[in-house]
Amino acid sequence: MHNCKALLEKVILALDGELTTAEEQQLLKEVEECPSCFKKYHIEKSFKDFLASKIERKCASPQCIESIRARIQQM
Ligand SMILES: [Zn+2]
Repeated sequence: MHNCKALLEKVILALDGELTTAEEQQLLKEVEECPSCFKKYHIEKSFKDFLASKIERKCASPQCIESIRARIQQM
């Protein structure tokens, strides 16, 4: 059974680099089969990428991170 919440938790692990390549590929296959997970996956991924670029520029206060997350979720 597909569980969106459980899958999203795995997505976050994958984006943190906590999954093996095989696990990640299995995850991506499942993500593509569920429009809701597919959308959330891309929200999380853009957030992560955006945050990574911000951290490089040393701008990552908790308030800053929260406002970025809120902005991305409104997209
Ligand atoms: Zn789903």
